[in-house]
Amino acid sequence: MQVSDRTKDVIESLTFFAFVAITALCLSFTFSIIVYSLGLPADPENFIVANLFIATCVAVPTGAIAAQHEFRMRIYQRTLEDIASTDPLTGLLNRKFFRQFAVEELARMKRTEVTSAIALFDLDYFKAVNDRYGHGGGDVVLREIAAVAYSELRGPFDRLGRWGGEEFVIMLSNVELEQAQSVCERVRASIERHMIFLDGQPVNVTASFGLALLPPGADFDKVLEQADHALYDSKAKGRNCVSVLGRPQRVAA
Ligand code: GH3
Ligand code: MG
Ligand code: MG
Repeated sequence: MQVSDRTKDVIESLTFFAFVAITALCLSFTFSIIVYSLGLPADPENFIVANLFIATCVAVPTGAIAAQHEFRMRIYQRTLEDIASTDPLTGLLNRKFFRQFAVEELARMKRTEVTSAIALFDLDYFKAVNDRYGHGGGDVVLREIAAVAYSELRGPFDRLGRWGGEEFVIMLSNVELEQAQSVCERVRASIERHMIFLDGQPVNVTASFGLALLPPGADFDKVLEQADHALYDSKAKGRNCVSVLGRPQRVAA
């Protein structure tokens, strides 16, 4: 956050505080004058009505301002959370928050006894794209591939994150290994088909996938390591394929 934003927040908070304090002072001052002029309890009915009126006149704007302040704070907090959890280039979950989500999901899975899967995928020969079209061109590719992969997943159930560089991670919830393989194959084929235009030229990239099953109670980091080994198998096998640890294979679409 910039210093000017912080200064603005401090000024807004102080303004809010001053408003509430002055309102409270006015309220008690007005109350005293009314009590004095009415001669409590000479006319209890008038006293109650006058107090209700004053309290309403003060409480409504005070409440409105307090609510506005609370609303702003919430938006502010949400923005901060988004910034903290999102990879700025692709808009996907960043590594830290993906890991946090996966660990929480694993804890939930322990109760439900369902299996999930983790897939890592890495763009093939991406360095060549950077070398040819520059870092800016490479960034365009990363953004487009993120969007393509995201569009093949099941909205809120599956999570996609940027693990780092040109490596992405997927958590597929509530799936068996075969289903997970076919989802990865679908994403792989979609990336292979997708045409990206850089400097007016069509560029086509592929990705290699490593997949591992997440049984209930599994250690996330261990399973991720398995997925990483499987990804290595895919690279060794010639790239643009999906592998499961111990049995690299190309899966039919
Ligand atoms: P392989 O098929 O074995 O994965 O080869 P590769 O060329 O994709 O792999 P390598 O690890 O040699 O290169 C990855 C490249 O990704 C190198 C690095 O400059 C680039 N890279 C990492 N992060 C970014 C990024 O945020 N933007 C861009 N444009 N490039 C990035
Ligand atoms: Mg690569
Ligand atoms: Mg890489």
